[in-house]
Amino acid sequence: MTDSVKQEHQKELFGQPIGLYILFLTEMWERFSYYGMRALLVLYMTTATIGDDRGAGLGWTSKEALALYGWYTMLVYVMSIPGGMIADKLIGQKKAVLWGAIVLCIGHGVLVLTDIWAFYTGLGLVILGVGLLKPNISTMVGGLYREGDIRRDKGFSIFYIGINLGSLLATLIVGLVVAEWGWHAGFGLAGIVMVLGLINYLYGQKYLKHVGNFEPSTGGENEISYGQLYGKLPSSPVQLTVTLILLALSAYGWYTLGWGYGLLFAFLTAITALLMMIYKELDTQIYKDRFLVLLLSFIMVIIFWGAFEQAGGLMNLYTETNTNRDLFGWEVPTVMFQSLNAGFIIIFATIIAGYWAKRKLKGKEASSLFKMALGIIIMGFGFLFMVFAVMEFEKSGASSMIWLVLAYLFHTIGELCISPVALSFITKLAPVKYASLMMGVYFAATGLGNKVAGIVGESASDFGEYAIFLGILVFTVVVGLLFIVILKPLKRLTHGAEDNERTMNEEAEGFELADN
Ligand code: GLN
Repeated sequence: MTDSVKQEHQKELFGQPIGLYILFLTEMWERFSYYGMRALLVLYMTTATIGDDRGAGLGWTSKEALALYGWYTMLVYVMSIPGGMIADKLIGQKKAVLWGAIVLCIGHGVLVLTDIWAFYTGLGLVILGVGLLKPNISTMVGGLYREGDIRRDKGFSIFYIGINLGSLLATLIVGLVVAEWGWHAGFGLAGIVMVLGLINYLYGQKYLKHVGNFEPSTGGENEISYGQLYGKLPSSPVQLTVTLILLALSAYGWYTLGWGYGLLFAFLTAITALLMMIYKELDTQIYKDRFLVLLLSFIMVIIFWGAFEQAGGLMNLYTETNTNRDLFGWEVPTVMFQSLNAGFIIIFATIIAGYWAKRKLKGKEASSLFKMALGIIIMGFGFLFMVFAVMEFEKSGASSMIWLVLAYLFHTIGELCISPVALSFITKLAPVKYASLMMGVYFAATGLGNKVAGIVGESASDFGEYAIFLGILVFTVVVGLLFIVILKPLKRLTHGAEDNERTMNEEAEGFELADN
């Protein structure tokens, strides 16, 4: 097809639909605002109210700050479930992304104000905005390609690089802006770039005509609404019993841990009930097994992010307080260490994807489940360097920056083995009509991982950093190995979903080596 007869939305750039670059840039600016603000959050909360040259902070203890950080980073992703549902059932992904972007602009704008109400309101709006935008923009990327389109995998890796470009720019620039003009200028910058993201998204609509549109349910005989699924719960004894037990536990959680946990557990109970009913209603054993193995893989996702997300919390504080950040007479701002992860992703993303593709071609083990388990182990090893850092700190009063660099390097290689792999695994295994919901559940699993990270990080004030870093190292390596031990039966549950990828990978590799 020549360009002259192509519609705007069919035009290509470097072999990819132009829509991909629109989504790439929108997500890049969104991630800039998210990670820029995230990098400041714990430091802002723990800075004294009399302030330093960055202005007044909130004067909270590390424990209090890490607790809020854990709730915040969890809710941001847990809201992906309602975000996905709203898109599926009410407005479509394209409008959900638009509303998400608008709410994010307002949220970051409110954070520029110094009052405490503005702080909480701003965080709340950012949580809603990300919940609407993040899962749906990922699904829209998938929507740019027809089924079996060879460009899809590469499109997703380009998109993942966009995510990390945003994160890299944010952590490089926001640190400098805060050092120069103070905390609220940093928050304001996050707001400005989100406006850029919104403008870019609006401008790019002509390239996105065919994706993310709301498609009302056809009402066909296989069509079943969430309401109908819940309606069948009372006549499903096993599912009902599990739901009631979980509800009782939620009530107990409310009573013992407070309303926050109570509400969270109740919400998760409702989602678990829905997932159980979906499982029950799936047509064939193949669909059921694939659904199950997908959910089992989400256990790895929770554990991975639970350890990995120490980055913005405990490791961030450790960098600020225990690390010698002197680089040839210049003190590297703490926030800048958050750039290492994104920088390493941009460097290693294609190398690691290429490595796995080659391995697969040679007929060696390269299943998604294997990569994910290995990802946990590699990331866990990163904590060995944090153990060394604490040992050095205890001996000499400050630890070297090199430990952090090595820790983040291993964390990133682990992330590249699990995170993009999991996204593609979802698109391979999720039943088509529940694909958005499963994307939402996946992001919620990463959110729960964030919460676990907060809880683990908080407990450092009781157990000490050495015990925490060593504990994470041992736990993650053991869990990763355990998944490798049960790999065969787990793979059986996928019913060969990845078996026909040989040619896809061959072609994809040709793409990597020969294109452009
Ligand atoms: N770093 C990735 C992103 O920002 C992964 C986040 C996640 O899955 N929790 O998109």
